[in-house]
Amino acid sequence: MSLDEIKQRVEKAEKDAGRKAGSTHLIAVSKVQPNDRVEAVLQEGHRVYGENRVQEAASKWPDFREQFTGVQVHLIGPLQTNKARQAMELFEAIHSVDRPKLAKTIARLAQEIGQCPEVFLQVNTGEEEQKAGVMPAEADAFVAEARGLDLPVAGLMCIPPVDEEPSLHFALLAKIAERNGLTGLSMGMSGDFERAIALGATHIRVGSAIFGERAYG
Ligand SMILES: *Cc1c(COP(=O)(O)O)cnc(C)c1O
Repeated sequence: MSLDEIKQRVEKAEKDAGRKAGSTHLIAVSKVQPNDRVEAVLQEGHRVYGENRVQEAASKWPDFREQFTGVQVHLIGPLQTNKARQAMELFEAIHSVDRPKLAKTIARLAQEIGQCPEVFLQVNTGEEEQKAGVMPAEADAFVAEARGLDLPVAGLMCIPPVDEEPSLHFALLAKIAERNGLTGLSMGMSGDFERAIALGATHIRVGSAIFGERAYG
């Protein structure tokens, strides 16, 4: 599918949900994609991208940023604390702040560096053992802690379990955000972004539907 088609589907989903056109940020997830595919989407004018690995982003984006103005890259994958500084220098936003230790590290570095990317706090809405994020029951405390650290908290993020109806998870995330006075909701991927928009997503992370299937190794 092309970028244009995805943008049309986003627009239609916003309209169907009674939302303002353009109220959803489309993050084109370029992880693992060959550079020529990414460049083609840059040439079409798209400027907001998502990567899930610090190393890969570091090898790819400095060059693209020289060729194209106004590029924004968001980190959407797990972040080790020892890579936090590098991540803060590479990304405009970090969607995967998934534990207090990482929040504290980012806050400390922000003081040092004098700036901080926007952060989304990741909630493990499916309470899956292998998945990152705080449990829903701990989310309010985590939001309070992150705010207490002066982090620029833009909102919450989730990745629903693969085998469950994602809408239940989107609704849960929206509810937690609302009671905490947060407006940002990073949720929805290629297979479910329309359902996410219906439930209030402000940032959808769409990879394969834009770029095609990822060819791993
Ligand atoms: C890879 C990835 C996506 C994009 O997935 P698609 O199904 O290709 O749209 C979205 N969010 C996260 C956290 C990812 O790792």
